[in-house]
Amino acid sequence: MKDNLVCILIGPPGAGKGTQAKNIANRYKCKLVSTGDILRENVENNTELGVQAKNYIDNGNLVPAELVAAMIKNTMELYGININYLFDGFPRDIEQNVLFEKILNEFDLSVKAMIYINIEDDVVFDRLTNRRICPKCNRVYHLKFYPPKFDNLCDDCKVELITRDDDKKDVIKKRLEVFQKLTHPLVEYYKKQNKVIEINGNKNSEDVFKNIISGINCFR
Ligand SMILES: [Zn+2]
Repeated sequence: MKDNLVCILIGPPGAGKGTQAKNIANRYKCKLVSTGDILRENVENNTELGVQAKNYIDNGNLVPAELVAAMIKNTMELYGININYLFDGFPRDIEQNVLFEKILNEFDLSVKAMIYINIEDDVVFDRLTNRRICPKCNRVYHLKFYPPKFDNLCDDCKVELITRDDDKKDVIKKRLEVFQKLTHPLVEYYKKQNKVIEINGNKNSEDVFKNIISGINCFR
């Protein structure tokens, strides 16, 4: 097996995964393979897999895991096996992990660590339900930590701020349940192999990143 850093980043909604994914990728020169991005790229570039995926999306269906896995494989063929990888958004459950390990195997790679940003449900609710967005310029506010200057109006556009559907209480509750039910078993799976770096996500993003660095350095 090769000695690359191959990491999976995982965490419930509101854990700040997007920010940390970029931080980690910069620091360790990882190719960040984020499911959302590779899907978008494939669709935009009209690749064979992208055309298939678009079909599902246009019909309001989820893109099958096999298709996403094939895109990941293509990406890895492109970037080769002598670099570090950080995976965000895939695998998301035990079934996807089977596909994922199969691909890594084909490249003679294996998961070195799973970075799990753990965060309490209450904190997730506090973060997400207080988030407001400007429908015009997409600027994001937080009613407690980063409020607009005038009551519920965008500082720049002076239009009424809105709550995204994703940030509504019942939607968050549902997403947290899905995470616990489907994604969390993956954490247990990798814990048994002593590969989980569990990070307390209730802190600010600088501290979270510092803890991630110490965690990863133990695996190198
Ligand atoms: Zn605005």
